[in-house]
Amino acid sequence: MKLERLLAKFQLMGRTRARQVILDRRVAVEGNPITRFDQEVDRFSCVTLDDTIVQASARRLCLMLNKPVGVLSATTDATHRTVIDLIDDPDKATLHLVGRLDRNTSGLVLLTNDGRWSKALMHPTLKVPKVYHVTTRDPIAPEAPDRFARGFYFETEDLTTQPAALEILTSHTARLTLHEGRYHQIKRMFYRLGNRVTALHRESIGDIHLPADLAPGHWRALPPQI
Ligand code: URA
Repeated sequence: MKLERLLAKFQLMGRTRARQVILDRRVAVEGNPITRFDQEVDRFSCVTLDDTIVQASARRLCLMLNKPVGVLSATTDATHRTVIDLIDDPDKATLHLVGRLDRNTSGLVLLTNDGRWSKALMHPTLKVPKVYHVTTRDPIAPEAPDRFARGFYFETEDLTTQPAALEILTSHTARLTLHEGRYHQIKRMFYRLGNRVTALHRESIGDIHLPADLAPGHWRALPPQI
């Protein structure tokens, strides 16, 4: 929100008056006087007018969780355990998910109360890579990497998937890097090759890797600079 709007909203003053107090250098964000009234401020910044707090900084939360199979990627559900049920932070009600995993997929899930961060991570133009370890029912065909690189046409959405990198690890396992996230995408891709996914585990999203010592069902706060 623009600084002048925030002042007008929380200090019950008109826009003209808000602009004037900003120009008079009476408004500070995180202790620094600001004179641009169109300066964008989020709710994680402390804003003061003289010595009065106009907006106290909200606690920014960004965390990773190792989702076990069987837990829902959702914030609430009437019958199933959700990822939120695994978190014991007092502010967990403010969290939303940065992308989802199927119930029978395990691995890295990110949660945050910072909409700007989650939007940036999920924005299609940024093509943030997501890496999965895939186990299949049948041996993975040698031509599969080429098929994943060329993309699959999905009739339901009338689109061709973006090039994906498939690295065959063993006869029945592979590491797959996707730059998008469509409904049941990996399962549908392998299905198109006549194969089936029997286990799926997300290892990383962008630069964020699931640490080897983060056990299934456990979570950890990400460093504040993220
Ligand atoms: N693709 C799938 O099929 N399932 C997931 O959970 C993630 C990607």
